[in-house]
Amino acid sequence: MIYFDYTATTPVNEEVLASYIQTTKTYWGNPSSLHKFGVKADNLLNLARKQMCELIDADNHDVIFTASATEASNLAIKGVAHRYQERGKHLITTIVEHPSVYNTFLSLEKAGFDVTFLDVDKSGRVNIEDLKKAIRKDTILVSMMYVNNEIGTIMPVYEVGEILKDYYKIVFHVDIVQAIGKIPVSLSKMHADLASISAHKIYGLKGSGALFVRRGVELEPQTLGGSQEYNLRAGTVDVPSAVALAKAMRLILTDLDKNYEYVKMLNEKMRTILSAYDQFVINSPAEQCSPYIINFSLRGIKGETFVHALEKNEIYVSTKSACSSKNNKASRVLLAIGRDQELASNEIRISLSHLTTLEELDIFNKVLREVIQELT
Ligand code: PLP
Repeated sequence: MIYFDYTATTPVNEEVLASYIQTTKTYWGNPSSLHKFGVKADNLLNLARKQMCELIDADNHDVIFTASATEASNLAIKGVAHRYQERGKHLITTIVEHPSVYNTFLSLEKAGFDVTFLDVDKSGRVNIEDLKKAIRKDTILVSMMYVNNEIGTIMPVYEVGEILKDYYKIVFHVDIVQAIGKIPVSLSKMHADLASISAHKIYGLKGSGALFVRRGVELEPQTLGGSQEYNLRAGTVDVPSAVALAKAMRLILTDLDKNYEYVKMLNEKMRTILSAYDQFVINSPAEQCSPYIINFSLRGIKGETFVHALEKNEIYVSTKSACSSKNNKASRVLLAIGRDQELASNEIRISLSHLTTLEELDIFNKVLREVIQELT
């Protein structure tokens, strides 16, 4: 099989899995227990938090372990909105966020918050001037993704952080899910108060994520019960998953630059392959874009038909992002960058990895020629 859907999820790294199994077998005590066995588990948990903070330059942050980035972003956004609503009820985000963020803002809008959804330009980037204009006296939160999961656009989150650091009443949340392990991330330089990550996008385990929370930022807990995770997320903490997440981060960050250069080379080759077809319109911008994602639209061919034609040849790509691929609506992201209804409804996302080989690209190239002949 040829897997080109690494943005949807990644296979687990053997070393990560081994550390999960080892911790499950050896340190299965409850980290909240007072006895020595519990304390050992708690020490491991805290070591994982410390390592994770070091890896993304987050010295001033604590780590809240969650079951997904979706949960982390829900906690971040609803947690800020409900905690600081006395200060103001205005929230800012963008029109191209992942559903885990976008839909959370829609629910807050229904609950009486005033949300500004910033538009993006043709490459999917937010204009800094638009952000500056949107900030009001009652703004309490700005949430922006670092790398767009559908088309790969890199958002100007460092510039945004530079602006927001002077507004002590505004909390800054960044969804770094598609950035971590792919491009450099420094929460300190970004002045990010909150950041969400997901383990299964970085060769870790599914059902595992985390929210980085800058000390001093308060959140309204979204899961009530015991006092685990700094009183922010009740429930016995999954220590093996936490240890495995720290390991996944460490392993993927070790080869960040080398992998980036390699995937960039693959991306260029993939773009050359795709450019040969008039039926394709490439949506991922050429500049300021993660090389791990190439998104294109089809003219005269249904996205689904194309995916299944490739699938018959054991090649797996995505229509839209995995979270939205089962609804047939046009892509919100592609409409936002100005694509028409047909192009926005028939998109293909190819996502690459350091595990992708040149041979896989060659096979894809051959199969693609046959598939296009068959479908046109
Ligand atoms: N944010 C982005 C940018 C994503 O790409 C995804 C998953 O596709 C998520 C959040 C949600 O991650 P999880 O599957 O851990 O909830």
